[in-house]
Amino acid sequence: MPKPSEHTDRSGRAALPSIDRLLQSPGGMALSEQHGHTLTRNTFRQVLAEARHQFALGRAPQVQDVDVLLAACATKISQQTRASMDRVFNLSGTVLHTNLGRALLPESAVAAATAAMQSAVNLEYDLTDGQRGERDAHVEHLITQLTGAEGAVVVNNNAAAVYLILYALARRKEVIVSRGELVEIGGSFRIPDIMASANCKLREVGTTNRTHLKDYEQSITTSTAAIMKVHASNYRIEGFSHCPAESALAELAHRHDLPLLNDLGSGTLIDLDQFGLPHEPTPREALLAGADIVTFSGDKLLGGPQCGLIVGRKDLIKKIRHSPMKRALRLDKIRLAALASVLQLYTTPEKLREHLPTLRLLTRATQDIQATAQRLLPSIQKAMGNKIQAAIIDCASQIGSGALPVDILPSAGIALTPHASKRGQGLNQLALAWRQLPRPVIGRIHAGALVFDLRCLEPAHEQAFVAQLAQFKHAHSVA
Ligand SMILES: *Cc1c(COP(=O)(O)O)cnc(C)c1O
Repeated sequence: MPKPSEHTDRSGRAALPSIDRLLQSPGGMALSEQHGHTLTRNTFRQVLAEARHQFALGRAPQVQDVDVLLAACATKISQQTRASMDRVFNLSGTVLHTNLGRALLPESAVAAATAAMQSAVNLEYDLTDGQRGERDAHVEHLITQLTGAEGAVVVNNNAAAVYLILYALARRKEVIVSRGELVEIGGSFRIPDIMASANCKLREVGTTNRTHLKDYEQSITTSTAAIMKVHASNYRIEGFSHCPAESALAELAHRHDLPLLNDLGSGTLIDLDQFGLPHEPTPREALLAGADIVTFSGDKLLGGPQCGLIVGRKDLIKKIRHSPMKRALRLDKIRLAALASVLQLYTTPEKLREHLPTLRLLTRATQDIQATAQRLLPSIQKAMGNKIQAAIIDCASQIGSGALPVDILPSAGIALTPHASKRGQGLNQLALAWRQLPRPVIGRIHAGALVFDLRCLEPAHEQAFVAQLAQFKHAHSVA
C-alpha cells in the first residue's frame, strides 16, 4: 500500500487525516464492521478527495475534523446502499402509472413469482415425457380460453409484441396503416419507428381524421404483407372523422389473402362496462371482428407483470413463435409464473375484483376513498403545521397507460395549500419534501396546491403512510 505523499502536497492536503487513521478510529471501525472494509475504505477515499477538492476551491477549511469526515462517510454509505428503486406511495391519481411501474400484482402472482425465483421449475420441461417443453405453454391454454384465439405467444412487452409480429410476418414488405392511427404512446413507442426497426415499409393511407375502405384497397400491391390497425389509446379524433368497421377491413384483407393485425394496447380481458368503467376493446371482440393477430400489454388493464401478448390464428402464431427474434424477446420464468397466476384469476371472474389490485383500485368506491381522506386529514394537517392548509377535495383519477385521459374516475384527495406568500417555489419544495420521505409520496401539483389522490392508498397501507409523517417534525418548515 503506497504511503500518501503528504510532504509533496502544496495545496494543504496534508492537513487531512490518512485513510488508515480514519479506518482505525472508533467511528471508522464501526462503519467497517457494519458495511465491510472495502466499501468503507473506498468511501473514505471519496470523502477525502472531495474535501481536498473543496479546499482547493477555497470552499472548505484546510484542517478537517475526523468526526466531520466520519459523518460524511456514513451519509455517503447510506446513500449508496439505499436501493435506487424502492417503494413509493402512488398518490398521483393515475392508477396505471408507467413511470411508477404500472399494475400491482395480486398476492397469488407474487407467491408464484417468488417460488420461480427460489426454485428450479419446469419452465421448458415436459413432466410427462421428460423432454424439452415450450415455455409459453404455461400460459397459452389460459390465454386462448380467455380470448377465443387459436394460439398465443408472450414476449417482453407490447412494444416487443408489435415489433415481433411485424418482423415475423411483414419484414421487407409493406404494411398499410391509416394516418389517423400513426400514434406515439408514452414517448418512445411510435408506430412508424417500430415499423422501420422491424424492417417493414409503412404504407400510410387516408388522412388524420378520415380513412375509407377504398383508401386501404387502392394501396394493396404485391408488396403488401398486412393491414394493421392501431388503437389510438391516449388520444381521440372526434367530429368529422371516419374509419372503416374492423369487420369490413378484415373482409378486405382476407379477400386479398392478407392478415389483419390489430394492436389494442391496453386490451382488457373482460368487459369493463359491467364495473362502470369506460369501454375498452377486448382481444375477443377484435378477433370476432376478423383480426388475424391481436397484440396487447400484460401490465395495463390486464393487471399483470410487464409483458406483451400476441394472440390469433394458429399458422401465424406458429410463424411468430419460430421467428429467431422470439428468443430475444421472450419472457423470463419469474414473469411467466406471475402472468400464469394472474390469468388464472380471470377464470373465476366473480372474485376478480377482490383479488386483482388493478381492478380493485379502478373500481374503488368514492365513499371509500373519502373515508380514507377523513381518517388521514388530521395527521397530515398536524405534520404540515400551520403554514400549510390541508383540505379534503373531490378529484378525478385517470386509468393511465394509454387509456383515454378524458375518461376519468371520481375520487377524493387531500390538497395542501401553502399560505399565500409561500406559493410558487414553495409548492415545489413541499412536493420535494414529500418525495424525500423514507417511502416517497408522489402527488401532483394542480391549481396552486399539492394534491394527493387517495384512490391508490388502500386501508391496509394507511398506517405505514401515517407512521412516516413523524419525519416532518425534524424538517421544521417544510414549505
Ligand atoms: C401501450 C401501448 C403500446 C406499448 O405497450 P408496452 O406494453 O408499453 O410496451 C403499444 N401500442 C399501444 C396501442 C399501446 O397503447
